[in-house]
Amino acid sequence: MAGIDGSIITNPKVWEASGHVSSFIDYFVINKKTKEKMKMDKHELEKIKNNKDFEINGEFNPMFTTNVGPTLADSTKVYLRPETAQLIFADFKDAWENARLKLPGGIAQVGKAFRNEISPREFIFRCREFEQMEIEYFIEKGMKCPYIDEIKGVEMQIYNEEMQKSNQIPKKMKVLDALKKGIIKTDWHAYWMALEYTWFISLGANPDKFRARQHTSEERSHYASDTWDLEYEFPMGWRELQGFANRSDYDLSQHQKFSAKNLTIQNEEGKKVLPHVVCEPSLGVERAFLVFMLDAYELDKKRENVVLHLDPKLAPYKAAIFPLVSKGEMFEFSREIFKDLKEEFNIFFDKSGSIGRRYARQDEIGTPYCITVDEESIKEKTITIRNRDSTKQIKVKISQVKDTLRKLINDETPFEEAGKLVKTRVKEK
Ligand code: ATP
Repeated sequence: MAGIDGSIITNPKVWEASGHVSSFIDYFVINKKTKEKMKMDKHELEKIKNNKDFEINGEFNPMFTTNVGPTLADSTKVYLRPETAQLIFADFKDAWENARLKLPGGIAQVGKAFRNEISPREFIFRCREFEQMEIEYFIEKGMKCPYIDEIKGVEMQIYNEEMQKSNQIPKKMKVLDALKKGIIKTDWHAYWMALEYTWFISLGANPDKFRARQHTSEERSHYASDTWDLEYEFPMGWRELQGFANRSDYDLSQHQKFSAKNLTIQNEEGKKVLPHVVCEPSLGVERAFLVFMLDAYELDKKRENVVLHLDPKLAPYKAAIFPLVSKGEMFEFSREIFKDLKEEFNIFFDKSGSIGRRYARQDEIGTPYCITVDEESIKEKTITIRNRDSTKQIKVKISQVKDTLRKLINDETPFEEAGKLVKTRVKEK
């Protein structure tokens, strides 16, 4: 897999080739009763077409336009990219050859995308300016997934087209069984959906709130032969978190046609082939962020403050350091530890307020570990580390703090075994 950083403004022909200029169409719909303004796609429009409560107020293309150079004319009109994916196709050959990739292989991009959404709302679920993380995974047509054993044992809720059309409810099953039974059609779709789902779960998201839903034939995009969404049960209902489209060789063929450039590459046998994208995992950073925040958030009634149970790998600060006294030897001592840890981790230093207050502030922003420095620290050369979730405390030698923190963040050691458990040496409140 290689990464690229494509441009936000590019030759408008790229968006003609991809079909965005002609087919990226939303409908502006108003709910006459609630006055709510919303966008709908063709498929959603079908469902409300005979409902008198809705007024269809025309169609529009959600791509933002601007002009390049000093003249405002049709000939200088360009678009802000509405997705990162197309730049991967447009830059495909350069990226592939420079990174010396081989089939099967992927090109990934993280970056801004822009869509003129009618109603950006539901916190950061729908924005006009957002960040995408997209992978185009290329294979030679018919190539099997050599990594399929990696998802052995992964179970998730599956909801294919047939289940939806026959009014069944989603079924929890092994992804590999769904593949064997033909519920999921390709091993690549099974592999990528299981992998991405496992990524969310490994970082603390709630597995019961996820399901893989197949697009019905009516809702599938023009370029896709099969599409699944990883959906999450947000407070406003089940919504798309990430899409997985089988785009076949649609995009590379289109870019080849519009650019008149040969985009074939050599396979292992030296034959020229135009690769197929059998699965395009496409995730919005804001929606992923929202999922982690929702699953981490707890208003702890006993502590009387919010505790954000973020996985330590996601937490913005890995630890905070509190000197019990804000000046003199104890302060200098804690600054030394702070400077040392800062070389490797993002660390917060807080010398103000009671220790209980300082714990609460860190709980609220999800800092998993708080390190306190007191008289014993100077005498014994030890500090205490407090666990955000259990509030348990361990005593650790100063010479081992960096190592211990690294192991805790990487989940290589249980907290209780990372040092000597102590009875709250430093009080909570
Ligand atoms: P929706 O149906 O919710 O508008 P979409 O099907 O148009 O989404 P895609 O074109 O498949 O979305 O985009 C891929 C991913 O980018 C989505 O799964 C989502 O995570 C993210 N995304 C798309 N539009 C937005 C937006 N307006 N704000 C935030 N994230 C978005």
